Amino acid sequence: MANLNINSKKENSYDAIVIGSGMSGGWAAKELCEKGLKTLVLERGREVKHVQDYPTTNKMPWEFEHRGAIPEAIKKENPVVSRCYAFREDAQHFFVKDQEHPYVQEKPFDWIRGYQTGGKSLLWARQVQRWSDFDFEGPARDGFAVDWPIRYQDIAPWYSHVEKFIGVSGNKDGRDNLPDGEFLPPFELTAGELYFKDFLRKNYPEREIIVARCAHITGNKEFYAKQGRALCQNRTLCQRGCPFGGYFSSNSSTLPWAANTGNLSMQHHAVVHSIIYDEAKGKATGVRVIDANTGETTEYYAKVIFLNASALNSNLILLNSTSNRFPNGLGNDSGVLGKYVAFHNYRAGISGEYDGLKEYTTEGRRPTSGYFPRFRNVYKQETDFLRGYAAGFSASRSMITDYSGIGEELEQALTREEYGPWRVGSHMMGETIPKEESQVSLDPVKKDAWGIPQLKIAMDYDANDEAMIKDYLEQMTEMFEAAGFTNIRTRDDKRAPGLDIHEMGGARMGNDPETSVLNKWNQIHSCPNVYVTDGACMTSTSTQNPSLTYMAFAARAVDHAVKNMG
Ligand SMILES: Cc1cc2nc3c(=O)[nH]c(=O)nc-3n(C[C@H](O)[C@H](O)[C@H](O)COP(=O)(O)OP(=O)(O)OC[C@H]3O[C@@H](n4cnc5c(N)ncnc54)[C@H](O)[C@@H]3O)c2cc1C
Repeated sequence: MANLNINSKKENSYDAIVIGSGMSGGWAAKELCEKGLKTLVLERGREVKHVQDYPTTNKMPWEFEHRGAIPEAIKKENPVVSRCYAFREDAQHFFVKDQEHPYVQEKPFDWIRGYQTGGKSLLWARQVQRWSDFDFEGPARDGFAVDWPIRYQDIAPWYSHVEKFIGVSGNKDGRDNLPDGEFLPPFELTAGELYFKDFLRKNYPEREIIVARCAHITGNKEFYAKQGRALCQNRTLCQRGCPFGGYFSSNSSTLPWAANTGNLSMQHHAVVHSIIYDEAKGKATGVRVIDANTGETTEYYAKVIFLNASALNSNLILLNSTSNRFPNGLGNDSGVLGKYVAFHNYRAGISGEYDGLKEYTTEGRRPTSGYFPRFRNVYKQETDFLRGYAAGFSASRSMITDYSGIGEELEQALTREEYGPWRVGSHMMGETIPKEESQVSLDPVKKDAWGIPQLKIAMDYDANDEAMIKDYLEQMTEMFEAAGFTNIRTRDDKRAPGLDIHEMGGARMGNDPETSVLNKWNQIHSCPNVYVTDGACMTSTSTQNPSLTYMAFAARAVDHAVKNMG
């Protein structure tokens, strides 16, 4: 019996374990494998192989039973995930359904998840903007959360490292609050977007519209061919999985790259229950895993563990990793684990029309849009709320689709080449402030199908967010009116937090172990062979889409781990 145990321990031992195969876990795996470490990736979901497991990728609109829409019965069963714009007939199989993985909404929270190889990297909108020191210095300057233990220069080389590999299309705009990166050729702004950009330059010189940087391959074909990826074809069917690998996903890029090293092992249907802490050794020695299908528990061992289960799931795993040394969750000496979670405020938007530029139209497709970098409270505090917002901005002009009549009349209506006015629109991407009362915790009673406590989520908007929404709508309305846009409509859809899909924090980084969970290298202060490099590590949220920063943290942390391994 003793022999058997020793053998199984040997068989289940690796140099490194990565929990989660999504956006950040894929990066941890790639870097660990490239540096020669035998690495086990544990993924709770099913296997989704690049190309062959994208069942809808080449389907025509008429090949979908409901022409892309989600039937009412499914919406009724899945009120949460149905609220996500990308939960459509062509991509529904990549989303977690509400019933499958229940959680407790102490306050309303729409938790959008993807449990499969690649996690949500298959589904994302691929927007990748760097942070700057205006973001990393935010908490210290404005006196909230705790100071970030790093600054832009610490992460800048890792942004470059990630951008070069994933492929980022963008323009060098020279903005100090949105640093330029390693860009492939940019997508173009439309005539309407250029008009508004020019209007801002003349009337609001500190404000600018740029083309949003996105993780699509638009050049350097030979380099990306080594990953088996090809140029983006502008299909804009990305959420189905791209057979060209035109946008970055773990499935098309980091995971196959890691596998090619010969150092990667992957287990699917492997639900990580907790991280094992060995008191005698004073470190983590492995993880406890429940087989999603059989319910059988297995332990896997490694010298170093990367936790990348996505922000809130990583909190859950840490809170569930209890021992005599850590009765309230692994690394939770400070009591802040699970606290100071936050999100992005996407509640507000504005639309309008523009009657000019009649000589221009928009043709074809583009997998990105215009981007309005943050302009509020950047250089000085100028409003009665803290921090600020970025915004999407787009302007397009297409043919009027007229379905009137039947037969010949309909044919004529459909083929009439008549263009409507320019349609302009923007949506707000606001920073929210992490607060102690915003928390996730383990429900004391409710368990999931594998006996793991359900996550209880409590975060909400506050007066700062309300003031920010008001300001966004006022500022955008003022600019839209001054630019000559008409039929202006504003909205505050009052959505619950979560649909931004940028939940962050709970195991925040900081210099002081008494007020933070992770140090400046993403190591747990009191258990340094565990690194957390997904959204759980975020000390504040800023306004930029966060995944690029998670990937950069993952690569940086692997470099640190390998250099410091005994
Ligand atoms: C529609 C949509 C649009 C988005 N647009 C953008 C965008 O434009 N820009 C941007 O920056 N971000 C965007 N995001 C968010 C982005 O997808 C996430 O920030 C990113 O995927 C997070 O990476 P991650 O590794 O933390 O988590 P994920 O990619 O979700 O991966 C986590 C993995 O861990 C696995 N896992 C979870 N729990 C366990 C467990 N207990 N045991 C084992 N495995 C586990 C999951 O199954 C999953 O595969 C978008 C998301 C969606 C859905």
